[in-house]
Amino acid sequence: MEARSHTVTNQAPPLVGYDVYTGDRALSEAVGRHLPAELLDGAREELRTLGRATGSEQVREWGEQANAFPPRLRTHDRYGHRIDEVEFHPAWHRLLGKAVSAGLTDAWGRPGGHVRRAAGLLVATQAEAGHGCPVSMTHAAVPALRAEPELAAVWEPAAASRVYERELRPAASKTGVLLGVGLAEKQAGSDLGAVTTSAWPLAASGEYLLTGHKWFCSAPMSDAFLVLARAPGGLTCFLVPRVLDDGSRNAFALQRLKDKLGNRSNATAEVEFDGTTWARRVGEEGQGLRTVDGTVAAGRLDCVLGSAALMRQAVAQAVHHASYRSVRGGPLADTPLMRNVLADLAVESEAATVLGMRLAAAYDSGAERDRALLRIAVPAAKYWVAKRCVPVVAEALECLGGNGYVEESGLPRLLRESPLHSLWEGPGNVQALDVLRALRTEPAALDAYLREVGEARGADPRLDRAIRGLLTELADLDGVEARARRLAERMALVLQGALLVRWAPPEVADAFCAGRLGGEAGSAFGTLPPSAGLRAVVERARPVE
Ligand SMILES: Cc1cc2nc3c(=O)[nH]c(=O)nc-3n(C[C@H](O)[C@H](O)[C@H](O)COP(=O)(O)OP(=O)(O)OC[C@H]3O[C@@H](n4cnc5c(N)ncnc54)[C@H](O)[C@@H]3O)c2cc1C
Repeated sequence: MEARSHTVTNQAPPLVGYDVYTGDRALSEAVGRHLPAELLDGAREELRTLGRATGSEQVREWGEQANAFPPRLRTHDRYGHRIDEVEFHPAWHRLLGKAVSAGLTDAWGRPGGHVRRAAGLLVATQAEAGHGCPVSMTHAAVPALRAEPELAAVWEPAAASRVYERELRPAASKTGVLLGVGLAEKQAGSDLGAVTTSAWPLAASGEYLLTGHKWFCSAPMSDAFLVLARAPGGLTCFLVPRVLDDGSRNAFALQRLKDKLGNRSNATAEVEFDGTTWARRVGEEGQGLRTVDGTVAAGRLDCVLGSAALMRQAVAQAVHHASYRSVRGGPLADTPLMRNVLADLAVESEAATVLGMRLAAAYDSGAERDRALLRIAVPAAKYWVAKRCVPVVAEALECLGGNGYVEESGLPRLLRESPLHSLWEGPGNVQALDVLRALRTEPAALDAYLREVGEARGADPRLDRAIRGLLTELADLDGVEARARRLAERMALVLQGALLVRWAPPEVADAFCAGRLGGEAGSAFGTLPPSAGLRAVVERARPVE
């Protein structure tokens, strides 16, 4: 019913009932580019189904509910037995069930699996980011598990299953499982060498008992966790199931749930192992950091994709709002200054998506050159794309005016989530230092990177100049640690520019090269040099035709 005092006008309709995948041209073009023709139809069909569900009123409501009713810790049952369970709103289980059934934990060893999954993650987490965490960790755990083929034979197919089974039961009795990762301790986050949790071997080979704690352990209702602990032979990776083979509970005491800035639908616990916590060794004793290397790298790529998803959703909301909101008798999106802001945001969002999808394709290809590229491009991309997420979401929020600051718009939830990917799997400095490590220890990584950006040489003079500038910086590694962030940023920007010049429409590549490589824009969004192409950039970012 209309208000009695006035007629409500000039408010944008909610952005629901649309296909989040098809409406994202940058993403759907990337899928078309990176998947072989024989896989394309099937993948598109799946992604469209996921895209329609993600954009539906119902799934949007689940996202709101899962955050409005956050998880609750239940340490004991009514009779005083320790249970260490977390209760979630039913909406959380629905979101997670949808993601698992869409195959978002099923990529390894499947042709085109990483590209299809990356696109799916980029779509699904636009409705609700928190459930992306268990999905990501379950996917990322696989490379570590493969260090122990016997374990992988049991856990990998269940991790890749499209069946979501929320009850905690022995793995052998479940079709689908979720996996978590417990590395960080109070005194040891970035510096995992300082982990103090200890592991004592039992008589049976490969079995240990753990004593210690984990300070951040997300998705604590997962079926098992990869945990770093100190065995007699040094830092070692273990698999710690929540339920043992005989059906009894493993000692996995949830002390508290963190009261977090965002990511509120997801639970993050503090966990203690009391000396009776049973664990199975994964990989050799003393090789813990090496064993989890592939898991950390896969998690970092998911941080790139997660940031790209938040940016895309924020930009879609901004473009949608400005297309309906009228000012001075025409759409807000058509005013020259708002067009500049929206185009600038859209270019940033597309650059993140194109880079994330290129790296996912490198996982699928398995070629030596792509493996080397991942080694250096993943930390650089994680550094830069995650860093861009907060300012992009904040500027998109401003495009909605006061409405954007109000919870119902969904933008505050996106903004609270937006710093998280920069922290997960190592904060910004850690990524930048990892880029340096790759430069120093793996010459093939820089070669692969230079070959990748070299493919775009000659297409845009600003990109060519940026490549030359980067080469000059790389030639002198004296005192480089203090320059590591700058270097990681330049490497990510040059790579984004090279990919956009090759694959994006000319107006997108031109705006990126002008604003990010050519020094033709200021620090805030909306400072691109005015050009006729900005209209097309905004049109391309429109989520609904
Ligand atoms: C919501 C949430 C969920 C999480 N879930 C999990 C989980 O499930 N499993 C898990 O294992 N961890 C989890 N974490 C932990 C996360 O991975 C760590 O917080 C992160 O790796 C940083 O470690 P830290 O907190 O100890 O910070 P520190 O390592 O103390 O870092 C503090 C600052 O110092 C900087 N720094 C560190 N080393 C250097 C250096 N050598 N040079 C210069 N600067 C440096 C960092 O960049 C950072 O800015 C979670 C964190 C959050 C916020």
